[in-house]
Amino acid sequence: MKKTVSILLTLTLLLCVSPAYAAFTDMDGKNEETVNAVNLLYEKNYISGRSDTEFDPDAGISRAEFAAVMLRMLGNMGENRPYYLKDVTKDKWYYYVAGSAAETGMMSGFEDGTFRGDDAIPKIQAAAIATRVLKDNTGADEGSESIPWIESLPEWAVGNVKTAANAGIIDKNEAFNSDSEITRGEAAVMVARVYDKLKDVRAMTDYTENYETRRPPITIVIDPGHGIDSGLTSTEKRLDDGWIYNSDYNQWGEWRHWKSGEFWHDCEGYGCIQKGDCWYRMENGDRETEPSINLRNAQSAANYLESIGYEVRITRGADDNPSMTKRLVYCYPNNDVNAVADADFFVCLHSNAGGGRGSAYIELSGAYDQTRINPDYAYIGNTLGKYINDEIVAQTSVSEYAGGVISGMPELVLFCKSPVPIAYLEIGFYDNPSDLEILNSEYDMIGKAVADGIDKYCRDTAMKTD
Ligand SMILES: [Zn+2]
Repeated sequence: MKKTVSILLTLTLLLCVSPAYAAFTDMDGKNEETVNAVNLLYEKNYISGRSDTEFDPDAGISRAEFAAVMLRMLGNMGENRPYYLKDVTKDKWYYYVAGSAAETGMMSGFEDGTFRGDDAIPKIQAAAIATRVLKDNTGADEGSESIPWIESLPEWAVGNVKTAANAGIIDKNEAFNSDSEITRGEAAVMVARVYDKLKDVRAMTDYTENYETRRPPITIVIDPGHGIDSGLTSTEKRLDDGWIYNSDYNQWGEWRHWKSGEFWHDCEGYGCIQKGDCWYRMENGDRETEPSINLRNAQSAANYLESIGYEVRITRGADDNPSMTKRLVYCYPNNDVNAVADADFFVCLHSNAGGGRGSAYIELSGAYDQTRINPDYAYIGNTLGKYINDEIVAQTSVSEYAGGVISGMPELVLFCKSPVPIAYLEIGFYDNPSDLEILNSEYDMIGKAVADGIDKYCRDTAMKTD
């Protein structure tokens, strides 16, 4: 009996003290509409305080924060990637917010391809976004009233701000200009007014997901070295594989470098400060055995990586022999080289020949001056290469070749042109009968070792924490 009473008391207390509204202590002096707006959005989990007790109503709100509030209210937050927003890197908390804002057409970013998520949002932009949301859901329009201060705003905003005023989302008697900032309290009021309009025409639900804390998958491009004999392929196939016919040399091949300072524009043999001859000749008569060994290892590695949460892109199938440039296209979202490369690593899997046994990674050494890449490009790729090679040696019958490192080949096309760090493995010697036997019988173990090396690297560097 005593126990029941105490449970009832506890329940009653919980019901009493648990507020149905936010208990922010810094809302004194705010008008009723602001207090109600903050409470509504907080209750619905569309917005949070700066702490459990403070809302910070007079502070600014960033573009990403404003977008997040809108998306949570609309229930439109999803795992949409910000493919074309150049400054939204995978480490930004608003990665999926920016992607979803772009996907819904709420915010498209600036002309230079940036999202500027950390910038404080000016009132004019917030009003435009609120209006787009409203227009998508209701029949809101500009109305016929002439409002002089709105007419003098930049042309892109006039229609949207007039619509916002006509719909009562902003106060038509409170003029602002392009630079006017909006506070968190004012943003809450604006969003709550949109909420009031929307709830008449659509279901409004609480926000229960938490996309802001989700991290996009780590993306690995796996490149199975070589491919079918280029000497046997048609002109059409060669062009499709990214090769160029150079009439000065009477040769098929590709340019080794990007034009200095112009990423993804071939050097075409001049103005080039990179390493090695600018022209790289397409090899005919590619080795018979190696392409299939590399592909098998790659597919096995891809399967393991995908099973532990990585995203994998493979650069070729069994019937292709892409140029190196064509393989690097996989570093980009949807293979669109005008977007920002979103792969984390490019991992080449080769097998060696020419006398030897065992496995090694190719180290990119010396000063490296690839443009527009991570300054730690070489260090990261080399470190990852060592991680992978160490796992191959530990987990399979493949031995370690030459201390596990082949040094100094910065002229490799992939090193010269990749936008992301490269790990370059030479797994065993396919022309050594003992190694070949291992390669034929242990490719699944090799693939697992490659995957484990990548996973270990990502965990040791805290790229992967789940
Ligand atoms: Zn060049």
